[in-house]
Amino acid sequence: MTATASMNRPADPAGDAPVDLFVIGGGINGCGIARDAAGRGLSVTLAEMGDLAQATSSASTKLFHGGLRYLEYFEIRLVREALIERETLLAAMPHISWPMRFILPYSREMRFEAETPTSRILSAVMPWQRGRRPRWLIRLGLFLYDNLGGRKILPGTATIDLPGTPEGAPLKPGFRTAFEYSDCWIDDSRLVALNARDAAENGATILTRARVTSARREGGLWQVTVEAGGARQTHTARALVNAGGPWVEKLLTGAIGQNTGEGVRLVRGSHIVTRRLFDHEKCYFFQGADGRIVFAIPYEQDFTLIGTTDKDHDGDPGAAECTPEERRYLCDFVSQYFAKPVTEEDIVWTYSGVRPLYDDGATSATAATRDYVLSLENSGAPLLSVFGGKITTYRRLAESALEKLRPHLGAGSGPWTARAPLAGGDFAVGEAETLASELREAHPWLSEFHARRLIRAYGTEAARLLEGATGLHDLGEDFGATLTAREVTWLMTREFARHAEDVVWRRSKLGLRMKPAQIARLEEWMATEGAQALRVSAA
Ligand SMILES: Cc1cc2nc3c(=O)[nH]c(=O)nc-3n(C[C@H](O)[C@H](O)[C@H](O)COP(=O)(O)OP(=O)(O)OC[C@H]3O[C@@H](n4cnc5c(N)ncnc54)[C@H](O)[C@@H]3O)c2cc1C
Repeated sequence: MTATASMNRPADPAGDAPVDLFVIGGGINGCGIARDAAGRGLSVTLAEMGDLAQATSSASTKLFHGGLRYLEYFEIRLVREALIERETLLAAMPHISWPMRFILPYSREMRFEAETPTSRILSAVMPWQRGRRPRWLIRLGLFLYDNLGGRKILPGTATIDLPGTPEGAPLKPGFRTAFEYSDCWIDDSRLVALNARDAAENGATILTRARVTSARREGGLWQVTVEAGGARQTHTARALVNAGGPWVEKLLTGAIGQNTGEGVRLVRGSHIVTRRLFDHEKCYFFQGADGRIVFAIPYEQDFTLIGTTDKDHDGDPGAAECTPEERRYLCDFVSQYFAKPVTEEDIVWTYSGVRPLYDDGATSATAATRDYVLSLENSGAPLLSVFGGKITTYRRLAESALEKLRPHLGAGSGPWTARAPLAGGDFAVGEAETLASELREAHPWLSEFHARRLIRAYGTEAARLLEGATGLHDLGEDFGATLTAREVTWLMTREFARHAEDVVWRRSKLGLRMKPAQIARLEEWMATEGAQALRVSAA
């Protein structure tokens, strides 16, 4: 689209001495690996063909979770690692992630997905259940979920009687009992931007709108060709990481010219967003008669997020869209539970992403493994390819990637990210509301919505963003929905934002509130005054 965005380092190292690591892909896995490597003292360049998190990493359900349903597939290693990781991540980013309670209403009519190992065993020993997921099994699953993963911050499972409670209020009266358990929310696309920012602050070069078109081994090094803003650059690196997400296989067989025999299974997942459907901050975990599960999650203060679907995806991963069939499916699914049916007229926004799952030969998209596989090919300069993974396991995945590369890269210190907060995340879990009140005390002209939004995006750095301002007029042009020129400049100079859509759909979700004319004005401002501010900050 536009010129390369090379941040926080004066010059891109194209043509200079080789870097230790070249990373293809600015999703969560690429940015997580770049951050970890740069913090260990390795030299790193990352190239992303569009904006950071433009693909799967902004289209998730946005949960740091163990994945309760994966227990039915006996994916114990994955669930355990993710459960342990939830609390490590919460502590490192209490602004963009927070604990959430999940309400799982019990219904006898709900069925297993027929293919799970648990459902097969149960059908053999208890055929009269006819594929139902019995209450004792849900309780057992939740007991494991509570106890597999060293839970310290999050509360354990409870059983609740729904009638007369806020949790029961929006549901059909037939639902009388529910289980309540813990998982966490994460703002996925901000997570990516903050990892990229930390990588850059540790010396990495982050290139956006920079597509890798070829990578070849020459003289024990990688020669990587990148096209950006109509120009072509060649970078030299000692090792290459292919974190292309849904494009990982295409990159291998195309630009990199390697056939490792490994592949991805592309599974589309779509979400719908409606105006807020209920008046509490807990999330619903609904089981369907088809064996699938769907979440209904409080979203962006005034909305409800509903998803997801699971459909094999053909074609360009970048063109995934929520189909009319998926919209209907999600509305019908949650309408089995909510007293007031959810209809297509309630939908204000949809999004869709493609899971790059490791192809383990499973027959259904729902059954394909969610675990990650790191494939190292080292006939010459090493090439590490990332298959699968979850937002929740990105930090552990990055550590494993560097462990695999360590014998080839030598230098560099050891793991460090477990105890290192992301920018603005240096405060205790659960203190965000206090920070928002303090911000309002210091700046009484901020609305409650505005203060909470700034704390949830920037944490302790919100105070810096507002430094010296005595009123909204000090924050420059007002683009609508509390977005001001001061904040956009911050996002351009520190978080690699270049276009209005980067700001309103990834660094924030203000696109849900802004009018098309306001977004068009923002685009115009970013191309002129914003670009000028960027030039000044780079000088
Ligand atoms: C519907 C859905 C729901 C999910 N929900 C959850 C959840 O709640 N919790 C959870 O933990 N996980 C969840 N996940 C999984 C998680 O989102 C993914 O595992 C993760 O985002 C994958 O990140 P990635 O970096 O591998 O891929 P991506 O985010 O897709 O990043 C790959 C990047 O590579 C870039 N790229 C490709 N080719 C090139 C090239 N030639 N040059 C330069 N750049 C290139 C792309 O533009 C892209 O930005 C969900 C996934 C989906 C689809």
